[in-house]
Amino acid sequence: MQLVFATNNLNKLKEVQALIPSQIKLLSLKDIGCFEYVPETQHTIKGNAIQKAEYIKQHYGYDCFADDTGLEVKALNKQPGVFSARYAGEQKDANDNMNLLLKNLKGKANRKAQFKTVIALHLHGRLKTFTGICKGEITLQKYGERGFGYDPIFKPEGYEQTFAEMDLELKNKIGHRGKAVQQLVSFLNSTNVK
Ligand code: IMP
Repeated sequence: MQLVFATNNLNKLKEVQALIPSQIKLLSLKDIGCFEYVPETQHTIKGNAIQKAEYIKQHYGYDCFADDTGLEVKALNKQPGVFSARYAGEQKDANDNMNLLLKNLKGKANRKAQFKTVIALHLHGRLKTFTGICKGEITLQKYGERGFGYDPIFKPEGYEQTFAEMDLELKNKIGHRGKAVQQLVSFLNSTNVK
């Protein structure tokens, strides 16, 4: 079967395609001719994931899933959270976001944080959500070149490397999106989607 993953982020497509059973071919927004801004104007991570999946179903007619991710930092009252992409401004620049976060955490002893991903799936007229959490901490500086977003400053619990120093396989196994995708995959398998 074909299933739309409501994203144009090639990093995410690569991460998720690696986890999805091979009989399911993922289509990106570009693949279905969607070049417009898909609204994500809700106040929660879950709300945004649902909004994106419903928008694609409504306007393009495809069954699809959408994800939304936020980085919740304990000492900052779970900020940047739903604002993770535009933490340092509308330019949505990963380096600017990391620099601002490091600045805001300067001098704070508690650097605990967690990534949260919610996936909303619109399938056969029904909506279902899956949540994946990865706990860890924010490092004092950037380490590593891999991954994207906040990866260079996030060190998952029980590991000495940041996400940006890990290979994709390990990040997928222990990471927030990987955990949410694993639940999505189990659900798709249990509903015998072909
Ligand atoms: P989005 O909602 O998935 O677009 O992500 C919101 C923000 O979190 C963006 O700034 C992303 O770069 C960042 N982000 C999402 N997933 C990850 C990840 O796996 N690692 C690091 N940053 C991420």
